Amino acid sequence: MARLMDMPTVLVTGGAGYIGAHTVLALKGAGYPVVILDNLVYGHRDLVEQVLDVDLIEGDICDRTLLNQIFTQYDIQAVIHFAAYAYVGESVENPAKYYRNNVAGTLTLLEAMVAAGVQCMVFSSTCATYGNPHQIPIPEDHPQEPINPYGMSKLMVEQILTDFDHAYGLRSVRFRYFNAAGADPEGRLGEDHDPETHLIPLVLLTALGKREHISIFGTDYKTPDGTCVRDYIHVTDLAQAHVLGLEYLLDGGQPEVFNLGNGDGFSVREVIAAAKTVTEQPIPVVEGYRRAGDPPILIGSATKARKVLGWEPQYAELEVILAHAWRWHQQRHA
Ligand code: UDP
Repeated sequence: MARLMDMPTVLVTGGAGYIGAHTVLALKGAGYPVVILDNLVYGHRDLVEQVLDVDLIEGDICDRTLLNQIFTQYDIQAVIHFAAYAYVGESVENPAKYYRNNVAGTLTLLEAMVAAGVQCMVFSSTCATYGNPHQIPIPEDHPQEPINPYGMSKLMVEQILTDFDHAYGLRSVRFRYFNAAGADPEGRLGEDHDPETHLIPLVLLTALGKREHISIFGTDYKTPDGTCVRDYIHVTDLAQAHVLGLEYLLDGGQPEVFNLGNGDGFSVREVIAAAKTVTEQPIPVVEGYRRAGDPPILIGSATKARKVLGWEPQYAELEVILAHAWRWHQQRHA
């Protein structure tokens, strides 16, 4: 709280997207001036203008001239970097798009930061950098063997960040998220992807009658009920972790990597059953084939983030995650 008088300005790339926008809300709540850079390919201008009310620069992280202008115009002290493509299936079909944007774009951003003397980055990484787990829950020192170009693109950036720390003193916190879900508890923001591929929004769109059924991708996994198990973490808890990660770096913390999850897993069938309870709506189910590249179980250990950053998830219960997401979807699709 010593910084109350002079809060550093934060550049949030991808701040018009799902996790980015929730993080901007948390940063504003903590008193930080924020500038968003977003190309609006997947981000939402309406949410930035109506809810976040911060400067939005429409543009690309690959645009070095624009980045130089931003770092000249604003006195930016740190970057929280969400801007990335994140569709696993698409990354297999079109890896060039993922390496160009997620890797080369990030490199351009990092070079602009070094040139401008900006030395702190909080980076959105992913549990997809681990690949198929050898151990559950997955700790941060688990081998990183991504099984798709999306995960590989994020792992490459993690490596670049390590090298930039050694060479240029650019310190970073890398967060490896498990399954981001839920929506702002006050109903101001939520998930709105196009196309939507994630389980929880698809289940809720089915409850809303916008989709005929939810397909379960595989019922023959070696899990208690045969369906995949995932660690769902509330987006507002993720956002809070980013504020803590930022403060850790601004206070001089050394580069670190942290898992962000609840350490608890729910199967696809359990998610659908809980959604029926929360929404009190029928949710027709079709049992389908496995989706390529889905590990049976992904659960993360986030004890390090709790210990080092003092992170305490507030909305760990699946029913709460679903209730917040349900409220958002009802409003957004009214
Ligand atoms: N899933 C499913 N039906 C769908 C979408 C997802 O059964 O329509 C499953 C998917 O196979 C995975 C889990 O739900 O086991 C979570 O998938 P999601 O795409 O939400 O996140 P991911 O784990 O791929 O990051």
